[in-house]
Amino acid sequence: MLSLHLGVPSGAQLSVLAIGAHPDDIEIGAGGLLLGLAQAQPRVRYIVLTGTPERRQEARNAAHAFMPDADLAIELFELPEGRLPAVWAGVKEILEMVAPSCSPDVIIAPSSDDAHQDHRTIGEIVPTVFRDQLHLAYEIPKWDGDISRPSMYVPLSAETVCRKVELLNKCFPSQRNRDWWDDEVFLGLARLRGMECRARYAEAFICTKSVIGPVASAPGNLQEGLI
Ligand SMILES: [Zn+2]
Repeated sequence: MLSLHLGVPSGAQLSVLAIGAHPDDIEIGAGGLLLGLAQAQPRVRYIVLTGTPERRQEARNAAHAFMPDADLAIELFELPEGRLPAVWAGVKEILEMVAPSCSPDVIIAPSSDDAHQDHRTIGEIVPTVFRDQLHLAYEIPKWDGDISRPSMYVPLSAETVCRKVELLNKCFPSQRNRDWWDDEVFLGLARLRGMECRARYAEAFICTKSVIGPVASAPGNLQEGLI
């Protein structure tokens, strides 16, 4: 299958906005993608909307661990966990505060189809604030069983997936005793998504809108090609 690459003008620095409702969301959903993007030394704005002091520190550690070479700006907020629908205006205000100073090439954020109310709230608001950006909505395994049909895949090597799981365990010790936190869950989902895109492992995303650029080296123009 033809792969679409996250291209930026030659010499430009890829700009990424990563948004999570909770510390660990971004890394569970897109940790493999971030490990890959980090090699290009992107500019990353990393935003998490809820979290205790302990969990916010975990988020800081994780952002640096997953993106050691990135130009990283971390902003952590204290909205009430599990109650983001009740503070909908607060979520929107934070994202609207970020938007004027941030024009990312790609936004990594939760999906509006996510069964968790905090994830879903962010997923619904992101496209209302950022109207001209590629929004890749990540997936997070959970007991609600909301795994859905993705539209984009990022193939990952076994090395990258293992590094992702290693860092998840290292960076989020407060979550390791949760019954759903399990290497097999993370690896199993990555293997399933890999099978679906004919790779060994992958992360999958929902993208509701994207733009395909013209092929620069194609002879003639599109109209000629259609005739
Ligand atoms: Zn979450």
